Amino acid sequence: MKQPHEFAPPSAEVMERFSAIVGEKHIIIDEEAMRPFLREWRDKYVGRAACVLLPGSEEEVAAILKVANEHEVAIVPQGGNTGLVGAQIPFEGGNEVVVSLKRLNRIIDIDEVGATMTLQAGVILADAQEAARKAGFAFPVDLAAAGSCMVGGNLATNAGGLNVIAYGTTRENCLALRAAIPSGALIGRLTALRKDNTGYDLRDLFIGAEGTLGIITSAVMKLHPAFTDTALAWVGAENPENAVRLITFMRSRLERSTLTAMELVCRLGIQFAIRHMDGRDPLTTPAPWYVLIELSARGEAGSAMYDMEEILGAAFEEGLITDAALAQNATQREAFWRLREGMSEAQKYEGGSIKSDISVPVAKIPEMIESGISEVLKIVPGARPVPFGHIGDGNLHFNVSQPEDWKKEDFLARWEDVTTAINEVALSLGGSISAEHGIGRMKRHWMERIHSPQEIEAMRAIKAHFDPKGIMNPGKLLP
Ligand SMILES: Cc1cc2nc3c(=O)[nH]c(=O)nc-3n(C[C@H](O)[C@H](O)[C@H](O)COP(=O)(O)OP(=O)(O)OC[C@H]3O[C@@H](n4cnc5c(N)ncnc54)[C@H](O)[C@@H]3O)c2cc1C
Repeated sequence: MKQPHEFAPPSAEVMERFSAIVGEKHIIIDEEAMRPFLREWRDKYVGRAACVLLPGSEEEVAAILKVANEHEVAIVPQGGNTGLVGAQIPFEGGNEVVVSLKRLNRIIDIDEVGATMTLQAGVILADAQEAARKAGFAFPVDLAAAGSCMVGGNLATNAGGLNVIAYGTTRENCLALRAAIPSGALIGRLTALRKDNTGYDLRDLFIGAEGTLGIITSAVMKLHPAFTDTALAWVGAENPENAVRLITFMRSRLERSTLTAMELVCRLGIQFAIRHMDGRDPLTTPAPWYVLIELSARGEAGSAMYDMEEILGAAFEEGLITDAALAQNATQREAFWRLREGMSEAQKYEGGSIKSDISVPVAKIPEMIESGISEVLKIVPGARPVPFGHIGDGNLHFNVSQPEDWKKEDFLARWEDVTTAINEVALSLGGSISAEHGIGRMKRHWMERIHSPQEIEAMRAIKAHFDPKGIMNPGKLLP
């Protein structure tokens, strides 16, 4: 498979053909105007490109890929540019072409009877959520980057996020999709069918493929009946064991509501958020661990709060939690969520932060945390681990902040050692080195460690079928 630096830049003739497809206004070649497409928000990956194309229809996307394939031009699909593994950013050579889905931002249809939304791939997640809400439904995907990421990007990464515990991942909520492939064809029927057993499921190949097979141009997503009543609480826990026990404890006692979020945060994470994000201590008595719990219900107002109060009272009696604060109004709800969603940003102000995104069977979370911290401290004594995340899904963002007296660059130079140690603990517990962020550039070298040669061979064969010249996002995902 060709690597990114082996691709030549598009010739003047090819640039002209691209320009003719998207229109002069929608091809960006100016360095300054390209800049936002060439770096991600943390500046961890900064690349260069021959141009950025902004197609306005699915047919234009397909036509771009056809020309690129004919002339062997490397393509980097881009949605909202919020990905965390460098998959949406071109390499440094400057020969690749970024195809941004920004202009494919139309919600095509909401089918209230079938409870589905048909939309173009460039619809911002928050806009899809808002349109669903207005129609009386809930859009199943939610994450802290909702204001910027696009549904096509969510599909291409099989995003997880805050509601997996209630609705499942993006994959589980996609009924159909259409994608442009390098031959110039648009494949996939946009059918809103819940049942359609008609052979191999090509849809699932494009979900989580990180733009290495083609470009998703539109999709049909499931909607869920909206919850009308929610209750939100921060609770304190003495240790991760109790936090994990709380999940089953709650589930087995729910009478009138559903568990829609369960997020674990360590004390250090809360301290960072208080220090840098204008956050407030959620509990009067600090606890070593915190769990943010959301219950949601339909029907009678107060149902979720009824369950929350009853169950947390019992959990307190049982010694599972040390304290609890219940949001009493919208402002408090917002403040509670801000504290959780600001976790990554708060770490930015504490110097270097090494990120990892692992998952383990939920029951193994305490072991993951204990062994993970111990391994990290062997490598960087004085490092400050800040594990937090979607505990209900067994998914932790096992981030580590630098020791206070280290230089940022010295700490970041240990990225590979630290993440390897954390990943190895996750693998030893039957877990994954990438729960929801994907492989991209960052974790590509892990593919041969986690998949058998036969699995890698099958993936390469699938790639070769759709993309025989390897123009789609080269150097990402597949080793
Ligand atoms: C603050 C913050 C919080 C986050 N929280 C979560 C979280 O809780 N859960 C989670 O899963 N992720 C999370 N992420 C990561 C990121 O938001 C998701 O991976 C998201 O799904 C990426 O969508 P995007 O539109 O930004 O895609 P991009 O970043 O633009 O692209 C990501 C990948 O998808 C490909 N791609 C994009 N659009 C298409 C398309 N139409 N067709 C084919 N390929 C395409 C790109 O080539 C790239 O490989 C978070 C990120 C941030 C910054």
